[in-house]
Amino acid sequence: MALAACYECGGQVSTAAVGCPHCGAPQATQRVGTPVRTTELTSKRLKLHQLLSSLVLIVGLIWSISDYASARDPTLDVQPSATPYAVLGVALVWWIATKFRIWWHHE
Ligand SMILES: [Zn+2]
Repeated sequence: MALAACYECGGQVSTAAVGCPHCGAPQATQRVGTPVRTTELTSKRLKLHQLLSSLVLIVGLIWSISDYASARDPTLDVQPSATPYAVLGVALVWWIATKFRIWWHHE
């Protein structure tokens, strides 16, 4: 019994397993016939991740800037909130992780 990388999520899957324990992708077809074109299959999913993380990153950035600006404005009684920065941080980590996964799959 050996371990192989899942074509869908990249997780470790036993070659004896019918499906991936991480994402549930069927693994049966991978063992029969030609090796799955990992890069091609994952890139579509990763591109979606990249698109979504970029969008969240932009939203988080605009939100953080506007929140920072309004919190600094003495005419507005706005307390600075950590939420936009948290969103920005999560989006940044997600974006970097996606970038790393793309790089990893294309090596
Ligand atoms: Zn998987």
